[in-house]
Amino acid sequence: MGTQEGYSRAMTQALPPCPECASAFCYQMDALLICPECGHEWSPDAPSEEAAEVRDSVGNVLSDGDTVTVIKDLKVKGSSSVVKVGTKVRGIRLVDGDHDIDCKVPGIGQMGLKSQFVKKVSD
Ligand SMILES: [Zn+2]
Repeated sequence: MGTQEGYSRAMTQALPPCPECASAFCYQMDALLICPECGHEWSPDAPSEEAAEVRDSVGNVLSDGDTVTVIKDLKVKGSSSVVKVGTKVRGIRLVDGDHDIDCKVPGIGQMGLKSQFVKKVSD
């Protein structure tokens, strides 16, 4: 109960959009926010509270063992493989770092994903 209701409220806690191009896919690296769309980097006003919770692209809190889907095509570093949008990944594990999800992607293998590029699903 209440999961749908919490959905839109949680979105307000996502990182702010890029001030240059308004991309919603910005991510945090150390003290900077970085936009993957245009490459803009800037300092957020408030200190990060990211350590406590890992949230997906729409603000759902992720936990170890969750199932997520990838929301955009992601190049796999060091290979020509691409994790296609919609790929379902089961049994994620949350880790520290730039790529905060450790998981086994079907057809790709063990790799790190960024939580802002996935969405939690019930299955
Ligand atoms: Zn941008």
